[in-house]
Amino acid sequence: MRSVSVFGATGSIGESTFDLLMRQGGPATYHTVALTGGRSVMRLAEMARALQAEIAVTAYEDCLPALRDALAGSGVRAEAGATALAEAADRPADWIMSGIVGAAALVPGFRALAHGTTLALANKESLVTAGSLLMAAARTHGARILPVDSEHSAIFQSLLSEDMDAVERIIITASGGAFRDWPIERLAAATVAEASRHPNWAMGQRITIDSASMFNKALEIIETHEFFGISPEQIEVLVHPESLVHALVGFRDGGMIGHLGAPDMRHAIGYALNWPDRAHLPVARLDLASVGRLTFAAPDPVRYPALRLAREVMETGGLAGAAFNAAKEVALDGFIAGRIGFLAMAGVVEEALARMSGVMALGKAPETLDMILDTDAEARVTASRIIDEIGRI
Ligand code: NDP
Ligand code: MG
Repeated sequence: MRSVSVFGATGSIGESTFDLLMRQGGPATYHTVALTGGRSVMRLAEMARALQAEIAVTAYEDCLPALRDALAGSGVRAEAGATALAEAADRPADWIMSGIVGAAALVPGFRALAHGTTLALANKESLVTAGSLLMAAARTHGARILPVDSEHSAIFQSLLSEDMDAVERIIITASGGAFRDWPIERLAAATVAEASRHPNWAMGQRITIDSASMFNKALEIIETHEFFGISPEQIEVLVHPESLVHALVGFRDGGMIGHLGAPDMRHAIGYALNWPDRAHLPVARLDLASVGRLTFAAPDPVRYPALRLAREVMETGGLAGAAFNAAKEVALDGFIAGRIGFLAMAGVVEEALARMSGVMALGKAPETLDMILDTDAEARVTASRIIDEIGRI
């Protein structure tokens, strides 16, 4: 029986993964090793019971009593905290979903790869912060990383049986997010509730706001660069409001292969779960005749400064990705908490990168995970200070 673990089981990616596991027979088909979550302990316990998991882990120690109570009599072990989360990744499993949001997914991801597992990687922040180390860890331990971000799954599928040397460019599409039709002058006053409404995809709140600011696409350009080993100049972004074409690969003979599908993450998750086979998946089938037309446009660099920042980060290389992601996470926290406006997020990230490059060599290639975690921590302090300064003006 195949064994699986799901990190971030209670999130949007985790729920979709759970749905697919249950539809494919649940505990009759899969041996579930570990399920992890954060504050949604009741839901975590429910999932752990349904899949008869060995262990359920909440990231927060103060949530442990509630998790224990909810699992009483189930035979599922309850644990909590960062160490327990990392140890859950040490438990052997054939397939592990990395569905925690943010840099918190890094340590469990590395621990899982060290055991030679197949890591289904939804967490894009892992590649942005630690891409070279993560890819090297997979190679060293004979582990496999399967991309789950929809664009990257689309690229992966478009490249099946193709030679990377023949690839001229990769195009990832972007919906344009919640504010794609707003006049730029309105953006400064955009609220958290408005930024949290994605036109096409149902996702966690953080990635939804990142879609509105295009920070999500900025992370994905870097993710493409790190995962597929393609140079930044060969990666393009196209705004595609329908979100039906997820990515296109252009080859040196002028042909392009693209991937289309309904905006439902269960396709990419299900593809990674069943790879190299294709299983019947419960996603809507496209009726292109009723869709009628697909539209594309170049992204507006003034509206979306995050895309320029991503290019600068790739040019610097080394530790810049870790600093970029951490500063972005803090800026996003600042926006969600009502401390800074929507447009200020990019300014905070840019200023944090500028200040950090003044005191350290951001382009230095990371040799250890600790170097990355230190840079992440430093960037969080720097970005928080900048937000405090904005608050005092
Ligand atoms: P959600 O916010 O919906 O879920 C996040 C999950 O991580 C939850 O299980 C949450 O627990 C848990 N979690 C939150 N903080 C921590 C922490 N500090 N330590 C450990 N666990 C934590 O996020 P999404 O599912 O939307 O996204 C997950 C990842 O997948 C992100 O990296 C995102 O960029 C990526 N992704 C998501 C897509 C989507 O469609 N949602 C598409 C492509 C990529 P709890 O809720 O119990 O507190
Ligand atoms: Mg994506």
